[in-house]
Amino acid sequence: MSTTAAPFTATILGSPRIGPNRELKRAVEKYWAGRIDRAELAAVAATLRRDTWESLVAAGLDSVPVNTFSYYDQVLDTAVLVGALPQRVAGVADELDRYFAAARGNDAIAPLEMTKWFDTNYHYIVPEIGPDTAFSLNPAKVVGELDEAVAQGVPARPVFVGPITFLALAKAVDGADTPITRLDELVGVYAELLELLADRGVPWVQLDEPVLVTDGLQNAAELAERTYARLGGRAKRPAIFVSTYFGELTDSLPALARTPVEAIGVDLVAGNSSAVAAAPELADKLVVAGVVDGRNVWRTDLEKALGTLAALAGSAEAVAVSTSCSTLHVPYTLDAEHDIDAALRSWLAFGFEKVTEVVALSRGLRDGREAIGAEIAASDAAIASRKADPRLNNAAVRGRISEIVASGAQRGPADQRRAAQQDRLNLPALPTTTIGSYPQTTAIRVARAELRSGKIDAAEYERRMKAEIADVIKLQEELGLDVLVHGEPERNDMVQYFAEQLDGFFATQNGWVQSYGSRCVRPPILYGDVARPKPMTVDWITYAQSLTDKPVKGMLTGPVTILAWSFVRDDQPLAETAAQVALAIRDETVDLESAGIAIIQVDEPALRELLPLRSKDKEPYLRWAVDAFRLSTSGVADSTQIHTHLCYSEFGEVIGAIAELDADVTSIEAARSHMEVLGDLNAVGFSNSVGPGVYDIHSPRVPGIEEMATSLREALEAVPAERLWVNPDCGLKTRSTDEVTASLQNLVAAAEEVRAG
Ligand code: GLN
Ligand code: ZN
Repeated sequence: MSTTAAPFTATILGSPRIGPNRELKRAVEKYWAGRIDRAELAAVAATLRRDTWESLVAAGLDSVPVNTFSYYDQVLDTAVLVGALPQRVAGVADELDRYFAAARGNDAIAPLEMTKWFDTNYHYIVPEIGPDTAFSLNPAKVVGELDEAVAQGVPARPVFVGPITFLALAKAVDGADTPITRLDELVGVYAELLELLADRGVPWVQLDEPVLVTDGLQNAAELAERTYARLGGRAKRPAIFVSTYFGELTDSLPALARTPVEAIGVDLVAGNSSAVAAAPELADKLVVAGVVDGRNVWRTDLEKALGTLAALAGSAEAVAVSTSCSTLHVPYTLDAEHDIDAALRSWLAFGFEKVTEVVALSRGLRDGREAIGAEIAASDAAIASRKADPRLNNAAVRGRISEIVASGAQRGPADQRRAAQQDRLNLPALPTTTIGSYPQTTAIRVARAELRSGKIDAAEYERRMKAEIADVIKLQEELGLDVLVHGEPERNDMVQYFAEQLDGFFATQNGWVQSYGSRCVRPPILYGDVARPKPMTVDWITYAQSLTDKPVKGMLTGPVTILAWSFVRDDQPLAETAAQVALAIRDETVDLESAGIAIIQVDEPALRELLPLRSKDKEPYLRWAVDAFRLSTSGVADSTQIHTHLCYSEFGEVIGAIAELDADVTSIEAARSHMEVLGDLNAVGFSNSVGPGVYDIHSPRVPGIEEMATSLREALEAVPAERLWVNPDCGLKTRSTDEVTASLQNLVAAAEEVRAG
């Protein structure tokens, strides 16, 4: 290694930052609401950083990531670092408020876009690079956090999103060239940053380049080699650790290894071990071996991980033990779970437990297997208990899946279904409907809180939810919508609601994970074979249907989305787990149908999210995803209409799969992309019905009749009237009842106007 920094031996790539009790979420939201001032917010943030570092040092890490704290998002932090915030926020004088304006917008400023971070459910802010974006170094945040860490005696290693990944994730605006064309210029700013860190005596810097494990960039390996040859060639700099995660590096691994950087991080949970073993260029590098899964919750097989580490020791100058990625994606600690059976607990490791695994493995690597004999024995016992647990092997479920799959799991041809459904439903042309949820009213929130605290019992809760359903049905009848929904008041979350009722899932009490900004989610843990002890939605839906003569849609979450928003077992292929979830959903559709429900929607908003990062893996994924959806929806008669709903994404790469889902009606986000998705669907031969969203529910703005009528006329150029539905972009739960009422009034009026010709 060319710099004088000593190699470290045990680290993690980043950690959760929202606070063990979501302290940062609360503080930031209070600050936004004007209820606390800047100083109070800053104090909460500083305390969280201090506590995090303290626990990482105490656990035994000898290099600790800093600058991984964020008030909102690390990509937005990087935009600030390199001076790449858009012009439109420049007028906000205060630095922190400017940052929040970029993230969230305000009355006068549109926010930056937000999208998913690789194949996770974390969302980052998409930087905008225009022709006038002039990069310049703005290191205040990292300098401040470094000062704190150094004062605390922490072996600090500042972490940044690397220049290639930053530009690959950015979006060109105002006619600028694709951002990656600005790489050389941006690398100049990073060079300045390295110099500043060297001046401050920083021994190691971590530059995250996860984009190198995707096929999203042409000539990624070449860009990596050029960039890190240049940064590595700087005279005045800390030792450089280029970290990658979420997948296999392929040709970027030897490319990085040919540069003068001192350390390379590889995700060994996602693969890479044979590539590392076969790369002679690594002989003078520190390999930071991500053997502890940073994004899932399973306890590490220490014996196996130690074997992997030992095998690497021959190919590298030194090996450090690490998590595969930042533990941002898992909850803080298992200690916060009080209601979990001993067996399940023994199978799990959350953020803090992963740190102790890393430390144990680094000790084992240094001092030999015997030095961690006790830890290995505990890990072996947990693995044996998991293998033997009957909850992981439900023969009835497995048998039924094979039977259904063997018998074909097919519905009738689409035109036969269409005719049978039209006979049964007798809907007008351009039927109007909504996506499922209605506003989460205060009454709903209060009822949920009172149920949790024991102030009301289940019967009272049910009574209040039914009152909400009755209100929503009445509202929809008054509005004149054609296909109604029950409004989903009883659902805390579209995945957790089902997870709580299915065998094989564990819903955590405190397993919060940052999804974006101050928003956190609590993904359930899918640990065993999935089975449905009893119907989950039938009572609510039939109650709603009893209040109206219009059809009420049954509302379910699809198997892919349930997997995407859970921590999923890692002991069998995802496809098998998806089929089990699909079977439970299928049973629910059959029960809804038997109860007289004529339309059932199976939502798959996360279809795009699970799409693998490497091209070769995409087709097999889409195959099983489509199969799971079809398994879940093929148990009903041709006269029962199956809907699906998709949103939150660029559909480009999954458009063929959307067609293959073969839902009778697909509602899909389209308002922001101006109906383009309809042409794309036509291009792949899609010929079922479609409801392109005619207004964007993410904005409080009430859309006018004329603008929605115009959208519908545009849609009619791509889709004939008998196949076109009219609906918003997504569910309405984040909006107010006033906004929803006004918007839907206009939506119905727009549909009537266009029907009239
Ligand atoms: N049915 C769900 C709802 O309306 C769909 C949510 C989603 O697409 N994410 O809330
Ligand atoms: Zn949606």
